[in-house]
Amino acid sequence: MSVSCHFCNKGVTSWNDGSMPSSSFYMCKRCGLVRLTKEAASDFEEADFTSDDKMVISITLRNRWELEGRPETTENKLMIGDLNLIVSQFRNLDPIEKMDHALLILEKKTKYVGDQITVNSIDDYPLFYCISPLEVVGTLKLLFDNGFIFARDGVNPTNDISITAKGYQKLREIKKPNRDSKVCFVAMWFTDELNDVFEKAIKPAIEFLEAGELIPRYQALKIDNVEHVNDINDEIIAQIRRSRFMVCDLTGYRGGVYFEAGFAYGLGLEVIYTCRKDWTKEEKLTDKSGNVIDVLLDSKGNEIAVRKEGVHFDLAHRNRIEWDPDNFTDFRTKLENRIKAVIF
Ligand SMILES: [Zn+2]
Repeated sequence: MSVSCHFCNKGVTSWNDGSMPSSSFYMCKRCGLVRLTKEAASDFEEADFTSDDKMVISITLRNRWELEGRPETTENKLMIGDLNLIVSQFRNLDPIEKMDHALLILEKKTKYVGDQITVNSIDDYPLFYCISPLEVVGTLKLLFDNGFIFARDGVNPTNDISITAKGYQKLREIKKPNRDSKVCFVAMWFTDELNDVFEKAIKPAIEFLEAGELIPRYQALKIDNVEHVNDINDEIIAQIRRSRFMVCDLTGYRGGVYFEAGFAYGLGLEVIYTCRKDWTKEEKLTDKSGNVIDVLLDSKGNEIAVRKEGVHFDLAHRNRIEWDPDNFTDFRTKLENRIKAVIF
């Protein structure tokens, strides 16, 4: 006896070991591993799922199965309520998202640069979030027309295709975290001394408007970092996690600021470093003959600071924008240009 998949009608004839699958537990070439409770398998036939609903379940199950690493068996049985939930929670991808998704699938199938792969649109269309093999071809055609993939015969974008340099660049862009976020987290020393540079240069540089735009593309977010020892509050962590990129001003050599920059960098966010020019390198006091004064005592005999620590060496070599407190306009322009160069 052979069974057909509940969701895509694909015939399911046997397991790898030759044994027969049942209508509640089978491997479908389109939907992946399907395991329902016995009740769900019979209820499903009675229930009024439309063909669109079935498509949605097929797409969801297949993508879930791939994410789980294509397991060959599972203890997890779906109930009819799970199927209803899949249908009600489904969000389809728009064509651009489908292209991105398709490119990620192709990358996964590619074993080495230049590897030529063939897409099985007949069985893999649910994987591509498509409703038919034809839509897969259409999506791959868009990738091909945009130069993201190369087809050996120059016409058919499903056979012997490989990812181009432009495609790999696109993949890098797709994988950048929070690329839809509008938030730029500003990590900087919280002191009245730096209010002006935030309001007059950093904030407007982040919230710039292109000609014809009415809404700033990015929003500058600065959170008061009350620096208790080793206490970076949860709000700051949460906001960095949802930011598109970070502007990090190193003026003042603050531990909290370095922590925030490191955290963002670890998440893969783009971090743009800035620093007031008098804080970019370590400065030491010297006497009239040019000898460095290491210790200076006040009238009561207490040691007073005689040097200003510069930017920490780990960050010193990173490209940063130095700013002059007497020229905010220049700083603002440079920062705005840097944002346009690295964030778009
Ligand atoms: Zn199926």
